[in-house]
Amino acid sequence: MLVTLKEMCTEAASTNKVVPSFNVFGYEDAKVIIEVAEELNAPVILMSNKDAVAHMDLKYSASLYRSMALETKVPVCIHLDHGQDFELCAKAIQAGYTSVMYDGSQLPLEENMKNTIEIVKMAHACGISVEAEIGSVGYSDPNIKAKRIYTEPEEAKLFAEKTGVDALAVAVGTLHRMTEQAAVLQYDRLEAIQNITSIPLVIHGSTGLTDEDLVKLTAYSIGKINLGTALRMTFGNTLRDEMNANPKEFDRIKFFKQPMIEVKKVVKEKYQLLGW
Ligand SMILES: [Zn+2]
Repeated sequence: MLVTLKEMCTEAASTNKVVPSFNVFGYEDAKVIIEVAEELNAPVILMSNKDAVAHMDLKYSASLYRSMALETKVPVCIHLDHGQDFELCAKAIQAGYTSVMYDGSQLPLEENMKNTIEIVKMAHACGISVEAEIGSVGYSDPNIKAKRIYTEPEEAKLFAEKTGVDALAVAVGTLHRMTEQAAVLQYDRLEAIQNITSIPLVIHGSTGLTDEDLVKLTAYSIGKINLGTALRMTFGNTLRDEMNANPKEFDRIKFFKQPMIEVKKVVKEKYQLLGW
């Protein structure tokens, strides 16, 4: 079943559950994520990031994920992660995504707000949800030039009210692409933000969160947390082991079997920590 982000995020934010949102790169990871969600009767968010969009045109990924979503009873949201401009967000909506994130987090507040308002207007006219970012989460990789700016609660309130977004990503201590669960979350900042806003919040870079943090976050007004690196590491490292262990094999479908099994375990673990 296809749904928008707003539906599932609003519900999760008001209960002791958070929806894990996974970066997917094709059939293999999308399939095991949906299998876990079916086992747990949980909603699913499949996200395409910049690398995925560069690799496979949005219209192909939209068709693939939409057809998988229509085959399952659990709610599935197909989300564009970190759309950098109006054109890409519009293209994702036209292709069949049910939610887009516009990321103007590196821009001055006024400009981020102005661009977000335009995208919200266009997306809402199409019945599609919008996530935006205030403050900037930043990256653990020093080669990626995106500075980390912690979210100011007053700015989050102003941004949410002025733009009408459906979910708001905030920077409260995580970083993208962390390979260890070593983020130090600023719970005071998170509490201050949720106390003056009424919008489902989103945490990016959640591979860096400890298991205890994931459990703790279920009590906050968080609708969605983004997970990418944890799954990419599991898939890639297992694939490498499989190839090293079977040097004569060349069939990629055989090589994909074990990585899918291992990714499925990680997906299930994250869902369970998040209250499912
Ligand atoms: Zn992100």
